[in-house]
Amino acid sequence: MLSPREAVRTLPSYHPPLAGRNGLRLDFNENTVGCSPRVLARLRELTPEKLASYPEREPVEVKVAEFLGIAAAELLLTNGVDEAIHLLCETYLEPGDEALIVVPTYSMYRIYMMAAGAQVIAVSAGKDFNFPTNDLCDRITRRTRMIAIANPNNPTGTVVPVADLLRIAHTAPDAAVLVDEAYFEFYGESMLATRGKVPNLFVARTFSKAYGLAGLRSGALIGDAEQMRAIRRVCSPYNVNAAALACLPEALSDQDYIQQYAGEIRESRSRLEHALEASGIQFWPSQANFVLARVGAAASFVEHIRQHGILVRDRSSDHGCEGCVRITLGPREHTDRLLIGFKETCEELGIVQGASRR
Ligand code: PMP
Repeated sequence: MLSPREAVRTLPSYHPPLAGRNGLRLDFNENTVGCSPRVLARLRELTPEKLASYPEREPVEVKVAEFLGIAAAELLLTNGVDEAIHLLCETYLEPGDEALIVVPTYSMYRIYMMAAGAQVIAVSAGKDFNFPTNDLCDRITRRTRMIAIANPNNPTGTVVPVADLLRIAHTAPDAAVLVDEAYFEFYGESMLATRGKVPNLFVARTFSKAYGLAGLRSGALIGDAEQMRAIRRVCSPYNVNAAALACLPEALSDQDYIQQYAGEIRESRSRLEHALEASGIQFWPSQANFVLARVGAAASFVEHIRQHGILVRDRSSDHGCEGCVRITLGPREHTDRLLIGFKETCEELGIVQGASRR
């Protein structure tokens, strides 16, 4: 009888709650207003001929690499960062290899690592989700073949200093070390500049967040040119679709849009963080486009705020995130709506309102 591989049979399934997302969508860390109008205009110019042809990734890779100030041979465009993670697992992990993550973190690392048959070792973040660099380095062995780190991390918004990431990559020379910079635009620090010095280091970027193109599914994996040659062998030649490839150069060229959007998100982030502080609700200062907050009964909170037309994500089952929700930030007017809905929800649920209620 046909049966999936052992690693697949035992794989936990990850079903993000995507159905029925009506309201202000602050639940998936997307851009809440959409991409640059220039990208939409480009999309409307797509011809039947373009869609009838297989997509040509390489000319666009040249442009994206140029934008990032790297060689095209160091970059692969992917079907979102998710595919980049998958490709790294396919390229470097043998069944039984060890793969390290720090929890809580982005769910797909564990899933793709397990699907490749690796033994996933989850190292707990420290107090306040501080990055456990020493603990992680202590768990590196000769069997460690992959380490995935989101910087900034999802769902905590916390970050890891460049020096720590370099130390990890140096400590695990036989492992592919992925620094996932999906939220780079809201943070500003990158590992890209160090890439030439560390051949086992990979950086991932996405067009799904600040660029507002989650639906187009585009990301980039950057690494040592020789390693990237191996990864290209595993990758489909048509992994990024023609519509996405047509839009990416336009998306990159409208940096005013990205800077403006990221700036507004940073402002919204401080507004939400101040409101949480004033309410006496525990939260962790974030460098991404979301904030994790401990509201108590998270499921009930999500349901109540939904009645105010706002969607946020229950993260209470993530490691160390009991009672927590993750709230994505949008620009000013979305934050106005969020703060009103948040306050009313807290009042309905009797969540302690510190300073603001005294
Ligand atoms: N990495 C992290 C840390 C994320 O939070 C997400 C999306 N939630 C992804 C990768 C996936 O990004 P993409 O849409 O590019 O596949």
